[in-house]
Amino acid sequence: MKRKNAGNLVFILLVLLTIFIWLIFPPEREGVENYARYLAGMTLGSLVLVLMSFSLFLSTRPRWAEPYFGGLDKMYLTHRHTSTAAFLILFVHLLVVPLHVFDLALGNYLAIIAFSGIVSIVLPTLAPRIPFLNRMTGETYEGWKKLHRFIGIFFILGYLHSITVNAPTAKIAINWNQVFVFLGIGSYLYTELLGRFFKKYVPYTVEAVNHPNSSTTEVVLRPKKDSITKHRAGQFLFVRFLEKGLNESHPFTISSAPNEDGLRLTIKACGDFTRRLFANLKAGTDAIVEGAYGMFDYRTGGPKQIWVAGGIGITPFLSFIRDLKDDLSHHVDFYYTVRHKDEAIFVDEIEKIVTKYPRLKPYIRFSAVHGSLTVDDIVKNAGGDIRGHHVYMCGPLPMVQAFEKKFAEAGVSRENIHFEEFNFR
Ligand SMILES: Cc1cc2nc3c(=O)[nH]c(=O)nc-3n(C[C@H](O)[C@H](O)[C@H](O)COP(=O)(O)OP(=O)(O)OC[C@H]3O[C@@H](n4cnc5c(N)ncnc54)[C@H](O)[C@@H]3O)c2cc1C
Repeated sequence: MKRKNAGNLVFILLVLLTIFIWLIFPPEREGVENYARYLAGMTLGSLVLVLMSFSLFLSTRPRWAEPYFGGLDKMYLTHRHTSTAAFLILFVHLLVVPLHVFDLALGNYLAIIAFSGIVSIVLPTLAPRIPFLNRMTGETYEGWKKLHRFIGIFFILGYLHSITVNAPTAKIAINWNQVFVFLGIGSYLYTELLGRFFKKYVPYTVEAVNHPNSSTTEVVLRPKKDSITKHRAGQFLFVRFLEKGLNESHPFTISSAPNEDGLRLTIKACGDFTRRLFANLKAGTDAIVEGAYGMFDYRTGGPKQIWVAGGIGITPFLSFIRDLKDDLSHHVDFYYTVRHKDEAIFVDEIEKIVTKYPRLKPYIRFSAVHGSLTVDDIVKNAGGDIRGHHVYMCGPLPMVQAFEKKFAEAGVSRENIHFEEFNFR
């Protein structure tokens, strides 16, 4: 088994174990009408808590767990899966154990509040394009994030519901559940309150702000005291700036080399926040940095490689090449594609660096002039056979997805196609 699959496997085993424990140590039958539904309801309710506790745990962004999932971006994918599974099981739980809303029982009221809260928070995530749901988040990612932060409260209410109506005779199963409830509540408190006491957020100052072209900002950050822990080329961080309109935490790749003083970020103005950043960020602004995260690292790949950067997806590759030391042991075909010449950034620097590394072949492509880059072009340049190559890609999601399919068709194993998920929703 690969280490990067261990995290998901552990989650699956714990879910199966939860079902087994309820089946092997069930509550007593005595005095219970329709026992099968009762037991199924308990088990499903327990699964909802277990799965939600996984989601809350992953929200703490534990850096030590990254190798067991394949990086933080993949952890977010797992978070999405555990949350969706919990949400669907919640509905089945509700159908199996019908709520008698007019019963004046505390457990029922807690259930109704927890259920309504979870539905209101999860639906805008699952169906962000429905106008009514969109309005709840102000149609912004930041609004969605703020709404999402309440989920832990409804998790706790769901747990309180479970202890008011649960099966006191199923002691082992209940104690098993309790472990996950503590994990979930602990994780939520860490994310929302306690993280700051564990040096999770590190203060920096903006030393310089540069604009390499008319839509890109390069931010140079210097630590106020201690820097973030040692990072690798290609990793990313979360940053927010303590300035009105810029105090939102966003992920950006560290485009400088790890051994440079300070950190450099290279940011494309593509939405509300990044446009405000381009227009308003000034040297001297305080910043809070969290990280670094990510497992996008060409050094773990094979000797023959293809790198594809689309637009601002150049940032991890900038970090790779700025970090090159005396030699590059890999043979790399390095594609950097943008629409127009003026969109390409740091081209002079890239061209200067590659002269020192004969195994690193750059192909800079302006699609408006040369036509769009295709995997067929890449295969042709590589001599017609890329089956043994490792591919590293970063760029717009549609491009990465289309290229992944084409590279697989060209015989590259999916295991050898690496890319960063640029979407954490
Ligand atoms: C691992 C990673 C590394 C990245 N590295 C870079 C980089 O080096 N340079 C660069 O220019 N961009 C990078 N991005 C993309 C950058 O984070 C988004 O472009 C930026 O957050 C968009 O914010 P916006 O409000 O301007 O745009 P919007 O139009 O509001 O958002 C566009 C999309 O960006 C994502 N997004 C928005 N806000 C957040 C947030 N707070 N947290 C997470 N995702 C968000 C959402 O998917 C959203 O749909 C990276 C993203 C990820 C996940």
